[in-house]
Amino acid sequence: MSFPPIREELRGIEPYGAPQLSLEQAPVQLNVNENPYGPSAAAAADIATAVARAAMTLNRYPDREFTELREGLAAYLNSSGGSGITPEMVWAANGSNEVMLQILQAFGGPGRTALSFAPTYSMYPEYARDAMTDWVVGHRAEDFSLDLDAARDLVHRTRPSVVLLPSPNNPTGTALPPEAVSMLCDAAGDGIVVVDEAYGEFRRSGTPSALELLPRHRNLVVSRTMSKAFALAGARLGYLATDPAICDAIRVVRLPYHLSAVTQATALAALRHAPELLGRVDDLRGERDRTVAWLREQGLEVADSDANFVLFGRFAHRHAVWQGLLGHGVLIRETGPDGWLRVSVGTAEEMTAFKSALTIVMNTEPMRDNT
Ligand SMILES: *Cc1c(COP(=O)(O)O)cnc(C)c1O
Repeated sequence: MSFPPIREELRGIEPYGAPQLSLEQAPVQLNVNENPYGPSAAAAADIATAVARAAMTLNRYPDREFTELREGLAAYLNSSGGSGITPEMVWAANGSNEVMLQILQAFGGPGRTALSFAPTYSMYPEYARDAMTDWVVGHRAEDFSLDLDAARDLVHRTRPSVVLLPSPNNPTGTALPPEAVSMLCDAAGDGIVVVDEAYGEFRRSGTPSALELLPRHRNLVVSRTMSKAFALAGARLGYLATDPAICDAIRVVRLPYHLSAVTQATALAALRHAPELLGRVDDLRGERDRTVAWLREQGLEVADSDANFVLFGRFAHRHAVWQGLLGHGVLIRETGPDGWLRVSVGTAEEMTAFKSALTIVMNTEPMRDNT
């Protein structure tokens, strides 16, 4: 054993994280799918008042069951694609990343398997590793949809205790049809199926939320976050809706008082301002659709998107394109299958900056041979 005595399988591994640059280094930040519109002065003031009130009680531990917040989140979900969701069906933690890790801690573990379909969210294998759970990854079709027969076969063969399905998928933007979710819930038997709807609010009209399927499948978990559409990435609040028995199981692995009084006050104040915080979602969906169309006009391949980002390519040297854009102050994400890049949808001004920079970069000599 050498010092520090880190677990063998963690030795030499770099911590996960997109490059985080200052606004001076990269004035146009389109790399982590944040909402470009911050809260209004009125919402910020209300959050500050709620936090000030919570500050008066910080000598005490917070409500371990975050009862009021669960009521608020249940009400919000019932207005956002769900129905009949009660507070006992809701769980929350510090970002949906923590929610997902808790799921793996409660339902994964040695001798068990977690399954997803690539390209998929790059954090999933890390939760599996940290919860000492075997990780199996199937593959999506050329157009990033799920081949349902192959997916069902893989579930039958590997018998996962947890299936992780982002919908809309990160990094491709692809939403899953409800039939696919239903089919995988049936195939998983007693295993649980997590539909990660981190980008659910951005889905195109006509794309249903998996929340609608909750009454039909007790092994279905639908997770959401306040980090994206809600414009609250800095507050760290993720949550899910599922069968109360699944919430009870997660309660066994959560740390005591994991949601601070400050976090609970912030999230509750944000929920009171939900219509305003979510008010830019329609603008962003429009900007997304215009970005998809523009990229296609440039002759690029673009994945259909139900999210607030767009995956486009393919470039023989994607790193050079990424670097070239950064040279113009535009930071996007080098992620997804080889040759593809992902851009988050920002304000109209930011997207104009992105388009001008990409036009210049694509006309530069070494960039021209895109495949
Ligand atoms: C951004 C994102 C999340 C949200 O993470 P938080 O911890 O809630 O900020 C979850 N899942 C996917 C696929 C994401 O892209």
